[in-house]
Amino acid sequence: MIYDCIVVGTGSGGSTVARELSKKGLKILMLEKGPSHRVGTSINHIQSKKLSFNDGSEEGYQNYDFLNTPGELIYLEGVGGTTMVSLANACYACTSCYSKSATAQFEVHDLELFEELMDASKDLNVNSLPAEMMGPTTHKIWDAAGALDYFMEPMPKFIDFQKCNKCGLCINGCERGAKWDAKQFVNEAINAKASLIINLEVVRVKNDQENLKVEAMDSNRNKKVFHAKKVILSAGALQTPHILKNSGIREGVGEGLFADLFITVGGYLKDCGLNTEIPMGVKSEFGPYFITPHYSAQLVPLVNDKGFDANPEDIVGLMVKIADQANGIVNDDGKINKPLRFEDLNLLKEGYEKCVNILTEIGVDPLSIVSTPIRGAHPGGTAAIGRVVDNNLETEIKNLYIVDASVIPQAPGRPPILTLTALAKRLAKNIIQDTSD
Ligand SMILES: Cc1cc2nc3c(=O)[nH]c(=O)nc-3n(C[C@H](O)[C@H](O)[C@H](O)COP(=O)(O)OP(=O)(O)OC[C@H]3O[C@@H](n4cnc5c(N)ncnc54)[C@H](O)[C@@H]3O)c2cc1C
Repeated sequence: MIYDCIVVGTGSGGSTVARELSKKGLKILMLEKGPSHRVGTSINHIQSKKLSFNDGSEEGYQNYDFLNTPGELIYLEGVGGTTMVSLANACYACTSCYSKSATAQFEVHDLELFEELMDASKDLNVNSLPAEMMGPTTHKIWDAAGALDYFMEPMPKFIDFQKCNKCGLCINGCERGAKWDAKQFVNEAINAKASLIINLEVVRVKNDQENLKVEAMDSNRNKKVFHAKKVILSAGALQTPHILKNSGIREGVGEGLFADLFITVGGYLKDCGLNTEIPMGVKSEFGPYFITPHYSAQLVPLVNDKGFDANPEDIVGLMVKIADQANGIVNDDGKINKPLRFEDLNLLKEGYEKCVNILTEIGVDPLSIVSTPIRGAHPGGTAAIGRVVDNNLETEIKNLYIVDASVIPQAPGRPPILTLTALAKRLAKNIIQDTSD
């Protein structure tokens, strides 16, 4: 059997392109490395890779506790990819948008995404968090930020608020179907006659006469081979580089890794209950970084180490998320190198100080204030537009495309799912145009 398209990975990029193409009647096969995790349990399936920061402990920064412990990158393998643990934030992600239009990062590559972004917002049902859904501590943070002259606004969310019961457990995947996740698009693709094989790891893609041959491995390490006219890699920024290199594409691959590094700064506020509010309900934008309320379980032991007796409901936190330098490398052995630059540290430090001000303003004991280690939840940049793919998202192997976070050239510093959905919609349009010519 020769498929019109094989899509590798079912996260933000893969699910969207598979949905769009199968709805247009193309014969689609989705190949997914992970299983289909039960919705409502996603947090248990988060995976991580250690971030080696090399020269991270720059002089002058030793006092910042976020540098005391090595960082990590987090992601999820399985149907729906990392969207299953998303906190439903729907930003128009683009580094350059601070000064120009929301899609400027792509415009420099002749890729205007405005129409697709609008379409994606509609499909994902994007709306700002309504005031009545906002928890009391989120509200308090909003007021405190205002009093400090930090402009805060409700976060745009891909949540159907008619279905949402404000449980605050978006990270688990939503059993009520209120939070959008990529599994919904995978199911729509299947309803439109696409096929899905799970627990199958794609290893390489090769030319095979007129078509492309996809080699994969099942969970018993048995080799499987599939054929298609076109193949779309959407295995995420940490995995796509390995498939590319195995396929003979090496130039610039795995380089340019960013992660939208973040810390959560928090402290003790008796019975504040932020852990059961809709997470990241408001945001304050500061150019290359933003600040948003965020409960992190990692804060509990850190606060208690300072001599407090905190339970999860007594912890209030604020995330600082930055557009970090695209200077990391995914090595052939899977290890990650991500030197921390002064620019990154300065942004984290600036955000940290603002968080301390807000936390103090809402009544947190300053002696309890701590920070989590640095983490990254938006790895990208490892097969960037202009370096590994062209502005049609095609690689040097004809008919082999990429649409996942690896093609984004610079750290957005903002949640990228909406942008990835838009990029995948654009690729689908191009492919449909191409097949109808
Ligand atoms: C805790 C957390 C919260 C987040 N919250 C938000 C948010 O609120 N808003 C937002 O915009 N972003 C959020 N993100 C980030 C967002 O989820 C990711 O940036 C985005 O999903 C990346 O999309 P992708 O298509 O590149 O990869 P993924 O969504 O990770 O998909 C990659 C897919 O490929 C599969 N795969 C990998 N290797 C292979 C292989 N060899 N063969 C076959 N399949 C393979 C994986 O199993 C997976 O299904 C969050 C991330 C985390 C960790």
